[in-house]
Amino acid sequence: MSNANPQCLFCKILAGDIPADIVYESDSAIAFRDINPQAPTHVLIIPRKHIATINDIGVDDQELIGSLYSAAREIAATDGHADNGYRVVMNCNAAAGQTVFHIHLHLLGGRALDWPPG
Ligand code: 5GP
Ligand code: ZN
Repeated sequence: MSNANPQCLFCKILAGDIPADIVYESDSAIAFRDINPQAPTHVLIIPRKHIATINDIGVDDQELIGSLYSAAREIAATDGHADNGYRVVMNCNAAAGQTVFHIHLHLLGGRALDWPPG
């Protein structure tokens, strides 16, 4: 999409300027494996549109955000986690540990996950 941020790591991955292990692509989103995986499956699902944080999601973005969850469901099924279970989480800002300011769902699966998270 046309609002790419030249400073943004994930916009650079979207543009193909930084390589990534892409596992899913649609008109609205892509997904790729996390460079520092915290579970056997650790995939990041991002919208093609640059949105910095959850706080910046607009009312017109609801279908787009829904498409991220549809991607999560498909990838979890492909990786064999649909029945055992998996986690989908999005961090917002510093206290939650957000480090890349282009929204992304973390899809974690393939091991037992503690609750509550740290
Ligand atoms: P956050 O902490 O913002 O919720 O998650 C950012 C995630 O991006 C982290 O899990 C981190 O390992 C991942 N990450 C950071 N840089 C890269 C990269 O260059 N490539 C990939 N595939 N993942 C990255
Ligand atoms: Zn971006």
